[in-house]
Amino acid sequence: MNVKRIAVLGSTGSIGESTLRVARHLKESIQVEALAAHSSVEILSAQIREFHPKLVALFDQEKAAILRREFPHLKIVAGIEGLCEVASSDLIDFVVIATSGLDALLPLVKAIEAKKGVGLANKESIVAGGEWIVQLARAHQVTIFPIDSEHSALFQCLEGRELSTVSRIVLTASGGPFRNYSSEQLKSISVKEALAHPTWKMGKQVTIDSSTLMNKGFEMIEARWLFNLPPEKIEVIIHPQSIVHSFVEFIDGSLLAQMSEPSMIYPIQYALTYPTRKKGMFPPFDFCKNSPLEFFPPDENRFPALRFAREALLSGGSLSPFLLGANQSLVSLFLKEKIEWLGMMQKLEKLLSQHKPYPLQSVQHILNAFLEGQKTAGI
Ligand code: MG
Repeated sequence: MNVKRIAVLGSTGSIGESTLRVARHLKESIQVEALAAHSSVEILSAQIREFHPKLVALFDQEKAAILRREFPHLKIVAGIEGLCEVASSDLIDFVVIATSGLDALLPLVKAIEAKKGVGLANKESIVAGGEWIVQLARAHQVTIFPIDSEHSALFQCLEGRELSTVSRIVLTASGGPFRNYSSEQLKSISVKEALAHPTWKMGKQVTIDSSTLMNKGFEMIEARWLFNLPPEKIEVIIHPQSIVHSFVEFIDGSLLAQMSEPSMIYPIQYALTYPTRKKGMFPPFDFCKNSPLEFFPPDENRFPALRFAREALLSGGSLSPFLLGANQSLVSLFLKEKIEWLGMMQKLEKLLSQHKPYPLQSVQHILNAFLEGQKTAGI
């Protein structure tokens, strides 16, 4: 049997741990050869003892030194160079990139240049540099497998189809905890309320982004680049149960959907086992327990983030990384209780209207536009 040799970047985070759970479940066909993490040295040590990787990277130099004392015979590299080494190592065929933030951009570029298969859970890199990254992947004949429930769903529904036969794709959104709040109620939302997501358990930034629907806006941008679809064919529908992960509608009016209970295990396993499928680890889907399934139109007056994403797509160039950076700063200001929940989107709208977009021709351009967004928004 073919064994896939993988690296996991961000192995100590939630997607990283889920990836290792899939690797444990499919240990006959998946071998974990390299691990990389930011700084969680205890969790990483336990993973090294279980999976016996040949190469390990820690972003944090001091923590790398601690790990080297614990594993003197293991190759341990550090910093962003270390992450790049893991992503492009000869030891691996496939890399799961599950780190958060734009630090993933450079390792992603290195993995593509080294022609590795890529399972991409990092949203920021495609939102900020999608057009550029996708061209690079095409030039190196590398497939990017999205590890995000919506994009994995779209990938599965679009597999083997002619793009010219697609009339639209419809991304589903849970709607977040404030889906039914009136404009009046949206004025007094606490950090604690915004951090309580109804269906998905995730990091703080993405949970807040789900509450404003900015996360769905970013996913529209991702879908545009990952699937090479024009912005006018990308729509969003609110689906509070998070069972249908997205739809593809074809020109004959037929719809394909991909469904499962909300768990990242499904898209991770699909990316790791493609082009085949292997036995999953959950019981069969229970239709009656997961009934009814509801769908509602998104309200762009209360949740303008979808409109911002569309503007970024239509304008192109630096507006997407600028939006990403500005939003990130505004979310951290909200988490520190320095601005109101509604203030995030109000301020974002103003900043976007003031930005003069320019074309992106390098990783540095992408990072500059992101930093400009961060800075203008207040950090
Ligand atoms: Mg998602």
